[in-house]
Amino acid sequence: MLQSQLFTKTKKEFAKDEESINAKLLIKAGYIDKLAAGIYSFLPLGLRVLVKIENIIREEMNAVGCQEILMPALHPKENWEKTGRWDSIHDILFKLEGVRGSEFTLGPTHEEVVTPLVKQFVFSYKDLPFAVYQIQSKFRNEARAKSGLLRGREFRMKDVYSFHTDERDLNEFYEKMAQAYERVWERLSLGAITYKTFASGGSFSKYSHEYQTVCTSGEDEIYLCEKCRLAINKEIIAEQDSCPQCGNKELVKKNGIEVGNIFQLKTKYSEPFKLMYQDEKGENKLVQMGCYGIGPSRLMGTIVEVFHDEDGIIWPESVAPFKYHLLNLSKEGKVKKQADELYDHLIKKGAEVLYDDRTEPTPGAKLKDADLLGLPIRLVVSDKTDGKVEVKTRNSTETTLKGIKEIF
Ligand code: ATP
Ligand code: MG
Repeated sequence: MLQSQLFTKTKKEFAKDEESINAKLLIKAGYIDKLAAGIYSFLPLGLRVLVKIENIIREEMNAVGCQEILMPALHPKENWEKTGRWDSIHDILFKLEGVRGSEFTLGPTHEEVVTPLVKQFVFSYKDLPFAVYQIQSKFRNEARAKSGLLRGREFRMKDVYSFHTDERDLNEFYEKMAQAYERVWERLSLGAITYKTFASGGSFSKYSHEYQTVCTSGEDEIYLCEKCRLAINKEIIAEQDSCPQCGNKELVKKNGIEVGNIFQLKTKYSEPFKLMYQDEKGENKLVQMGCYGIGPSRLMGTIVEVFHDEDGIIWPESVAPFKYHLLNLSKEGKVKKQADELYDHLIKKGAEVLYDDRTEPTPGAKLKDADLLGLPIRLVVSDKTDGKVEVKTRNSTETTLKGIKEIF
């Protein structure tokens, strides 16, 4: 992509009304724009990052057999009355009025929609197990929306719902999802600092699990067992004061960002919606359910919180909007021609390149923008590179000179 064509531009200053690093950097670089507290637009470069994160999650969910669907964001009140949550979580629901007195909420999560949906297709044990998921915008009237993409009032969520005949089958799938989640963190370069964390299971199972990315700006408190790479969250540290795996009592307190969670719902939602199946003996039984969330937009913010320096963002290659940032720092026609040639060469090879072909900014301004935008590999062509290309990765200070054809 030609940077001269990009309708967004980097800003000179940080937004005054943002406190978090992720929002400050992402807005300054032109990745996102704030409409109101906790409500953001994703601009061309920012949307590329979000889509890459979502596609990594999508691939890993597909790989364990989850089937992608897309459910509505607008939910009738009746569904939420069935579970009692129209009242019990009313503080986070964005409620709306429809025609002739009908009432709706914008979906903060989808148990109330998915359970009656699958009920139409589940009759016998032969119809189970299966899992469905979606990647979609969710709406929650969060009290504190001061952390940029970490806590949105409108935010992206990947939510899987699984359906089983019995708890054993639910447990088996739960473990499979835990493995799939590890692969997601690994591919996002967060594997080394993301911990499976024991959390309260509510009233229907002993524990649920959160995935917490260790980060000083995280609003959650977790207690790590460094031997087992497990953690316990603040809610349950009183009843469980040692590592659930090895009994280690020397747990290390850290701040974390909850990037995902997995939860055994058991029959909490199959009961109110009477989601039943007939077992082999012809007996009617309640379906066992699990739910599994990941926050792609929160992950985008988390990646910025973890990977940045004083000059800007340092994207991991798997989610960078482009792998290469090609900069022409010369006004000379001859040098421009070299840069154009390199761009064409890379595009022909199928590489993702942002080409700073702008004529206005000074070389210094272009280099500053490149650091702020944070693409993994910077390629500079200038009067000094003498027909060659200066190559530098965003996270090192070393540069090397290479021939144009040596780049890819
Ligand atoms: P939190 O405790 O941080 O409020 P939660 O327990 O409410 O999270 P879930 O309802 O289980 O989270 O949502 C699943 C995932 O969606 C979370 O693990 C997180 O990654 C993401 N998420 C939840 N709330 C938000 C939000 N307000 N903004 C961005 N992402 C969110
Ligand atoms: Mg919440």
